[in-house]
Amino acid sequence: MSGNLCEQCTGACCRYVALPIETPDTPAEFDDIRWYLIHDAVTVFVEDGEWYISFHTPCRHLLADNRCGIYETRPRICRKYTTDNCDYHSGDYGWEYHFTSPEHIDEYLRASKAKSRSAKRSVQPKRSRARIAAGRGLGRRSRGPQVDRFGIPLPELPEMTQPK
Ligand code: SF4
Ligand code: SF4
Repeated sequence: MSGNLCEQCTGACCRYVALPIETPDTPAEFDDIRWYLIHDAVTVFVEDGEWYISFHTPCRHLLADNRCGIYETRPRICRKYTTDNCDYHSGDYGWEYHFTSPEHIDEYLRASKAKSRSAKRSVQPKRSRARIAAGRGLGRRSRGPQVDRFGIPLPELPEMTQPK
């Protein structure tokens, strides 16, 4: 804790430990996240695209009046932490996601799959259009009846043969 602001605070920054974790990518890695989240007082959050695990447990040196009990010898991380943009300022932590239960991860995966399916669907018409465009090439047009510019069918002509 540092600065006068801390005197008005309940020691918000002294009540959890947050560590960066690998961004999950595979079903097994998402299952690991589920494992974290089945534990009490553990959450996972995503901030600026980085994934973190957070253990909501107060420092054992946090005093009843919310002051630091080992202020002179507090760890480096505590010394580096300042009141600039600290936990006191924000109910809004700028999380992109905050998972507090395994169900949240299941929901995230469902939403991600739905989004990915919808993205695939949105490119499908382009492919269809591409096929139609290809079908308008010479090979396809020669299969149907030939018409003039007014849409009137032209007489069938004998098949061309290569000159000998
Ligand atoms: S969250 Fe901010 S104001 Fe509160 S104790 Fe920590 S540094 Fe001080
Ligand atoms: S050592 Fe002091 S400043 Fe650091 S987390 Fe504990 S109570 Fe807070």
